[in-house]
Amino acid sequence: MSPTPPVTRFAPSPTGYLHIGGARTALFNWLYARGRGGTFLLRIEDTDRARSTPEATEAILKGLTWLGLDWDGEPISQHARQERHAEVALQMLEAGTAYKCFSTQEEIAAFREAAKAEKRSTLFLSPWRDADPASHPDAPHAVRLKAPRDGVTVIKDAVQGDVTIRNAELDDMILLRSDGTPTYMHAVVVDDHDMGVTHVIRGDDHLNNAARQAQIYTAMGWEIPVWAHIPLIHGPDGKKLSKRHGALGIEEYAAMGYPPAAMRNYLARLGWSHGDDELFDDAQAKAWFDLSGIGKSPARLDFKKLEHVAGYHIARMDDDDLLTEIDRFLAATQQEPLSPALKDGLRAAMYCLKDRARSLPQLIEKAYFVLNSHPIDRDEKSREALTDVSRGILKELTPQLQNASWTRDTLEAIVGQVSEAHGVKLGKVAPALRAALAGRPVSPSVFDMMLVLGREETLARLSDAAAA
Ligand code: GLU
Repeated sequence: MSPTPPVTRFAPSPTGYLHIGGARTALFNWLYARGRGGTFLLRIEDTDRARSTPEATEAILKGLTWLGLDWDGEPISQHARQERHAEVALQMLEAGTAYKCFSTQEEIAAFREAAKAEKRSTLFLSPWRDADPASHPDAPHAVRLKAPRDGVTVIKDAVQGDVTIRNAELDDMILLRSDGTPTYMHAVVVDDHDMGVTHVIRGDDHLNNAARQAQIYTAMGWEIPVWAHIPLIHGPDGKKLSKRHGALGIEEYAAMGYPPAAMRNYLARLGWSHGDDELFDDAQAKAWFDLSGIGKSPARLDFKKLEHVAGYHIARMDDDDLLTEIDRFLAATQQEPLSPALKDGLRAAMYCLKDRARSLPQLIEKAYFVLNSHPIDRDEKSREALTDVSRGILKELTPQLQNASWTRDTLEAIVGQVSEAHGVKLGKVAPALRAALAGRPVSPSVFDMMLVLGREETLARLSDAAAA
């Protein structure tokens, strides 16, 4: 019998943008599910009404969509499930695994003060835990979990191994506040259970929560999902990732022009490995991704590596897909969209542009020659390349190119002959040709440019340069 397909989820709190760490968490859950014919769900943890905003939800969905992570069904709002959270707490009350606690904030504070003075644990022990319901006042109350006081809670974590917490260190956590709203900890468990989540892959900042959450599962007699708490991402300096390190939001990576396929590859390798494989596509990632490949130590952001991965994906991408990515990049950075004519030019040149570009802006920079028509601007270096001698050579090339068949071999032969006649190497003539055709040092080879531009445009540029 084949195993039941897994159900995973990504459960962001909508308080900002899609953080690079969140994006990686989402990717791991997506890969795990998609590689096993499973389901990948999205839950918006919007219980904190003061901090949650629709704009943040929007930004997160947009970020996931850009990254190419599709989720199954509609995103689930945690806030919308409040009644269900309360219902479960009431079931626990009935079952005796939870109790009503009438202690007020002041009483709890006084308890802590006294405990501190007596050098006891300040963990609150509610006097209502074992109170006879007949003694209950008609007053506001919280619902607390009747957590085990003795023994230990063991988290069987797929990444961290067994993590043991002494129950004496955990208080009877609140499930429902006195205003009837659920606590975050309780809502997460009810939701994960109801959504049928089998595997929870999330940041290890939630490892402590897992012990408490395990107690709720046990109290309800629910099966505990497989937990995999992954180390957080660190900055290049090995310190916890923060604003100081630069790009934190996934949209910043979109604006830097790293294609989503490259980001998926790069993020997958941040904390997970499959042998020595660094460069791979989605199909490979889905086939290979497993919890056993997740490391225990934090991965570091490394922009050099990201560029390397991006270069690999750009070079392999289908030309039309690459054009679509360029459109998205221009839109994301509020730049003019390409006209159909420029797109045609770019498509024709793509074969000689995509090879060494490590980001979309690098590719666009290299495409300057085809995105601009003559007379083109020349930067200082290019102006310097147009000496009297080199202009003379360009002039001499013109009549020969007028009648040549427009193939790489012929063009190479003609430029070679003219250079030789002047007693200079091709390497001396190429900068002048480049200055004439592209007006800047970053471009494809001069022969590729001539082939892409065609005879007429090439001759026009040579004549502009010769006259400059
Ligand atoms: N909402 C939590 C966060 O954004 C995730 C909770 C979870 O994955 O269980 O960190």
